[in-house]
Amino acid sequence: MDSISTARLAPVHPELARRVTGLIDELANDPDPVNIRVTRGIATVEQQDALWQIGRDADGNKIGATVTNAKGTQSNHVLGFAVDVVPMNINTGQPDWNLSHKDWQRIIALAPKYGLRDGQCFHDAPHLELIEVPEVPTEEMQQTYLQAGAPSLWAETTIPTAVWDTPGISA
Ligand SMILES: [Zn+2]
Repeated sequence: MDSISTARLAPVHPELARRVTGLIDELANDPDPVNIRVTRGIATVEQQDALWQIGRDADGNKIGATVTNAKGTQSNHVLGFAVDVVPMNINTGQPDWNLSHKDWQRIIALAPKYGLRDGQCFHDAPHLELIEVPEVPTEEMQQTYLQAGAPSLWAETTIPTAVWDTPGISA
């Protein structure tokens, strides 16, 4: 894994970092390897609000192409439960944004094995999040985050160790 990805995984939920690392390592070590970069890790409320504002006017009305429906703590990125990744082109070393490329499909196909949900259904691909958390954080989760911060929320949310790491169980 490259140092940019390692740095972006450091502040997210430790179990998310562990699972995403597992997926990245498996594809990196495949006979037909895929090199993956983490493009987005944890976000602040302000950063998420800035994304939400794209394509909207001051009153929040849609005026163009939007990039997210999640404002502030409505995003699993803010709570530390989600990351975005991109396959890197083996030949050029540049991110491959062509979603029809098979490398994207390989990432999405492998996600469930590592206890990860991909974000295809809400048009954020490949967005990988812990399969145990709701797609939209509950009001209670958002309040805990705002009052006590991400680590306190994580402590209240029981995230089991992924099945793939349990001896004797093949995922
Ligand atoms: Zn995302």
